[in-house]
Amino acid sequence: MTAPLSSLLSTIRSLETKYHRTPNSVKLLAASKAQSSEKILTLYQEGQRVFGENYLQEAIAKMPELPNDIEWHFIGPIQSNKTRKIAEHFSWVHSVSSLYIAKRLNDQRPLNLAPLNICIEVNISEENTKSGVMQNELLSLAKECLLLPQLTLRGLMCIPAPSTDLLTQRKSFHAVSALFESLRNDGINIDTLSMGMSDDLEAAIAEGSTMIRVGRALFGERKK
Ligand SMILES: *Cc1c(COP(=O)(O)O)cnc(C)c1O
Repeated sequence: MTAPLSSLLSTIRSLETKYHRTPNSVKLLAASKAQSSEKILTLYQEGQRVFGENYLQEAIAKMPELPNDIEWHFIGPIQSNKTRKIAEHFSWVHSVSSLYIAKRLNDQRPLNLAPLNICIEVNISEENTKSGVMQNELLSLAKECLLLPQLTLRGLMCIPAPSTDLLTQRKSFHAVSALFESLRNDGINIDTLSMGMSDDLEAAIAEGSTMIRVGRALFGERKK
């Protein structure tokens, strides 16, 4: 039996070929919310280094039990009373959706650490979720984030409304991809398009994702 990690990595490589993407241009983030340290360590031993967590308390309980060269990404909703610990414990935050949160992360990022990498979460399926910035607010938020010295703006993230139809999925991702290109055309130097999860990673790769965040396809179904 092929381990889920190696089989997922070969799926990613074949989707890159299928959609004429540069080889190895899509990175894999293992979304490890609700997974034990043991399961995370198993993937680590198979070579995975990038893990994403949604819940601060859960994440900082697991971190000391795991190797310290793991690159931790915060991918969940951010409450303002959690920003200090997030800024102290993570290398990346994917879910920045206001200047208020960005400023707190900047001010609370310890000066002895490299700047915190951030993605701005874009609200693409307005009916589904209230998280993420509206498209018309994106450019000004991106410009403000560039002024914050303890943050490095890396790109955009999105979580579209679930759909089982490939073309519907692609439509949402295409819209975010277009926003990404338009920021780059405005001279904003970003390299990361964080989109795609277990059920829509093919559509995301087709539309230019550079980082897919995969949970269930790697770990199996989460316990409720
Ligand atoms: C849980 C989660 C994922 C992974 O979802 P799966 O469907 O398990 O692959 C990705 N991104 C975010 C923001 C998540 O909360």
